[in-house]
Amino acid sequence: MPLVLYNSLTRRKENFAPIEPAKVRMYVCGPTVYDRAHIGNARAVIVFDQLYRMLRHQYGAAHVKYVRNITDVEDKIIDAARANGEAIEALTERTTRLFHDDMAALGALPPDVEPRATAHIPQMIAMIERLIAADHAYAAEGHVLFAVASWQGYGKLARRSRDEMVAGARVEVAPYKRDPSDFVLWKPSDTDQPGWDSPWGRGRPGWHIECSAMSEAHLGETFDIHGGGIDLIFPHHENEVAQSEAAHDGRPFVRFWVHNGFLSVEGEKMSKSLGNFVTTHELLERGVPGEAIRLALLSTHYRDPLDWTEDRLSQARQTLDRWYRALLRWPATHAAVSEAVDAALADDLNTPLAITHLHDLAAAVYRTQEPAEKAALQAQLKAGAGLLGLLEAPPGTWLQGGGDGSAIEERIADRATARMERRFADADRIRAELAADGIILEDKPGGATEWRRV
Ligand code: AMP
Ligand code: ZN
Repeated sequence: MPLVLYNSLTRRKENFAPIEPAKVRMYVCGPTVYDRAHIGNARAVIVFDQLYRMLRHQYGAAHVKYVRNITDVEDKIIDAARANGEAIEALTERTTRLFHDDMAALGALPPDVEPRATAHIPQMIAMIERLIAADHAYAAEGHVLFAVASWQGYGKLARRSRDEMVAGARVEVAPYKRDPSDFVLWKPSDTDQPGWDSPWGRGRPGWHIECSAMSEAHLGETFDIHGGGIDLIFPHHENEVAQSEAAHDGRPFVRFWVHNGFLSVEGEKMSKSLGNFVTTHELLERGVPGEAIRLALLSTHYRDPLDWTEDRLSQARQTLDRWYRALLRWPATHAAVSEAVDAALADDLNTPLAITHLHDLAAAVYRTQEPAEKAALQAQLKAGAGLLGLLEAPPGTWLQGGGDGSAIEERIADRATARMERRFADADRIRAELAADGIILEDKPGGATEWRRV
């Protein structure tokens, strides 16, 4: 099944083919490590994890190189360290570890290389020197700036007019700039700021050059896929293209640009001031299984906006309960990923359609009475879900603790049926089993039964 991807550069879906089939190369902008990952950051990670899994499925795990950086030098980090009264290195190391823990809980595979910006300062300086030598950058008052007017292709990714770009970039107007849209490659550091010696004095890199230098170091001048959130197209990715192509005599930087849509929370833009800021960590702390978060994040197509709601999350938990129940007593037979699931994912990662096919498979498992057919369907469900990074736990383990109320609701419904049919011994047995699992039932007037955990 050929993989089709929407390319933000050409604004259409294209058949994906890597430059070297034995070496698919992908770079994704990683976190700036100063705080916990919020659920919008998690969306970006999970979307590109899904693409990584699909590339590994198609080309073989040994033939995909996925690089996702850690931005560990940036002004937000300096500010956060100061606010916490914490050393910068302690902050970036701690936050990187938390990020790894959270993303692992969501089933995100670690990238093949995770370069840290602070470990690539010489490469950044070398690239800046090349840009200066080629007259695409200039030094002024301890700063080095990229000369936007010197680069003809500027704006080709974001497709904005020059005026829009100047307004959108919110770049500082500074006396040392030749042009207001010129952006910083290097800037001076005060003694209390992190800094490295350079031909332009002690200073630190701008954010954009970090990704250009790290992608060059690990993937070369031209590679297959570059990803990130849609908010990064301008100015970050536009600037990466300009820096990298200008430093490489105009040779192309990236063939496919892939961008995930934004995530809002209960219909509103997520922000600390609105009090609707959701971190992955607090969901996990609440006992929400990582797979449920992952499924909820994949339940909308990656390019569409996703509204994160409690309802979406609880639906994802119920879906997983249902799928895991379908895997009970599965004799662990083997099956390939079904063509329907494969085709859905190959079509620009249509995860909602893939999920629909998994629902169909689970329904077929429940329907069939024939053991061999049932085992084959179960194997297909397991394989298809596996390609989405789901159903990785043993079903028994999930249904005992990892799942949510729907398994409990089902047992309560069984008990109600037993009572209606006057099978009181059965009804009592279900109540006792639930009690043994720490679930207390309360029969309400009118016939409803409520439950709570002890
Ligand atoms: P940041 O730490 O803000 O640089 O973001 C890290 C990654 O998360 C980038 O790829 C962003 O595009 C992405 N991102 C940040 N906020 C959201 C959001 N609300 N929805 C989706 N992706 C986001
Ligand atoms: Zn980047």
